[in-house]
Amino acid sequence: MANILIVDDIFVNRLLLKEITKPLNATCFEAENGKQAIELLQKEKIDVVFMDIEMPVMNGLETTKYIREKFPSPIRYTPIIALTAHNPANFFDDFKDVGFDYLLTKPYSIEKIKEAISKVTPRLSN
Ligand SMILES: [Mg+2]
Repeated sequence: MANILIVDDIFVNRLLLKEITKPLNATCFEAENGKQAIELLQKEKIDVVFMDIEMPVMNGLETTKYIREKFPSPIRYTPIIALTAHNPANFFDDFKDVGFDYLLTKPYSIEKIKEAISKVTPRLSN
């Protein structure tokens, strides 16, 4: 059983990801911005994070950087999958140093999500 954290400021986007990931039988936690995500990561055992990039309060880049730099081990190594409509090549040119493990581009599908999860957390995809 996996705990997934979905971080996105748009309610419908979170709902969509929750629906698509249902076949995984994971427990979904939700955050509207990076600040909420950080609070949840301190409270709950999260196995994988789906992180939107553009959010108010604290965006996905700031949040991922914060997790990688400020959190103690092992939380700082929590797999983080970026959610973006950006072109992946440009994205990684600009942001590869931030600490994302994988990039998921829209439109989302269960196949793409399973692929992403298996890349970052092999033990959860079985
Ligand atoms: Mg957003």
